[in-house]
Amino acid sequence: MAAADAVADEFQRLYGYAPEGVWAAPGRVNLIGEYTDVNDGFVLPLALPHTAVAAVARRTDGVLRVHSGDVGQGVVELRVDALAPGSGAGWAAYPAGVVWALREAGHPFTGADLHLTSTVPTGAGLSSSAALEVVTALALAELYGLGLTHPELAVLAQRAENAYVGVPCGVMDQMASACCAEGHALHLDTRDLTRRQVPFDLAAHGLQLLVVDTRVRHALGDGAYAERRAGCEAGARALGVRTLREVPYAHLLDALARLSGTVLSRGTTPGPPPEEIRRYVRHVVGDNHRVERTIALLDAGDPRGVGPVLTEGHRSLRDDLRVSCPELDLVVQASDAAGALGARMTGGGFGGSAVVLVESGGGADAVTEAVTGAFAAAGHAPPRVFPAVASAGARRLA
Ligand code: ADP
Ligand code: MG
Repeated sequence: MAAADAVADEFQRLYGYAPEGVWAAPGRVNLIGEYTDVNDGFVLPLALPHTAVAAVARRTDGVLRVHSGDVGQGVVELRVDALAPGSGAGWAAYPAGVVWALREAGHPFTGADLHLTSTVPTGAGLSSSAALEVVTALALAELYGLGLTHPELAVLAQRAENAYVGVPCGVMDQMASACCAEGHALHLDTRDLTRRQVPFDLAAHGLQLLVVDTRVRHALGDGAYAERRAGCEAGARALGVRTLREVPYAHLLDALARLSGTVLSRGTTPGPPPEEIRRYVRHVVGDNHRVERTIALLDAGDPRGVGPVLTEGHRSLRDDLRVSCPELDLVVQASDAAGALGARMTGGGFGGSAVVLVESGGGADAVTEAVTGAFAAAGHAPPRVFPAVASAGARRLA
């Protein structure tokens, strides 16, 4: 495989010897189920054809050397026993965090050399960070014979990102990168990581899923993410459940009624104002239900029916959770006007990417043209539009 050979050759050039193997882990796009993974709920991501590819070899001297072909920085050299959360190291914190998490979990590790390159757009909500973590975790687990399953690797990678890098993400990104299968979306229950591969062959129905990377990232995002999580936790506490996942959709109206007035306005719940918490609850419980509705439509052979569910999900993220932004709203609006079946922002919001369900061929072209034109008219930089083909999860290439 050409990509594997090129990465192995670059490893050889950098370190002066051949790697022991080459591995790949993909980025992902989430079809539906947003901010549900931080509430123990359901998500439905698919792996992208874009991957992080890493050539790796073991060392025996307690040294970790990492190199990315995509950043203008040389080889980063770290001492394995000095790795500690929050110790920085820029992009290298992602692979270093994985090594730290492996050691924390009691696995033996005496060092490694790693060179990687990635085609996953960074900072676009397509999980370039998870691709980096998962490819590192898979390579090291296989080389060191740790016998870890892909879900176990995903949890370890999430721990690296949460505790070492310091990003409080849920487990969806790492699970998607580690466990997705070609031609399928992954129905994942983030409460216990049970999952099912849902056949997702849009081409057979004359459809396509487009990813529109807005190329914007609003600074507001990080604080807002933490605030939404805190608000959801406050909502769960007020409702007397461990997480919002425990609220069945059939009980949503009742839950909202209980949250209005009495409990929250007495000020018993710290965090965001009561009215916001109600909206967050409505979004999370609603989006869990939208995941189930989407899967039912796919299983019934009606992928066109998914379109309106996506657009409804976008409205919920825009109006209830309030994590969209003008550029994402513009993608959805322009897509709709150009005849798309449905569209929504995907990922954490405040920029990043949207997904658009379109008829293949003319439908895709019309949407691409309309979105690109709308961005130009609004004075935004051109978005990047590409088809999301459901691809394989993390694997060994050579
Ligand atoms: P996302 O996961 O949505 O792409 P994040 O902010 O979570 O966005 O992760 C992006 C970060 O991951 C980058 O800032 C960089 O530190 C790291 N990263 C991703 N891809 C690469 C790469 N090819 N080389 C080096 N670092 C990378
Ligand atoms: Mg990320």
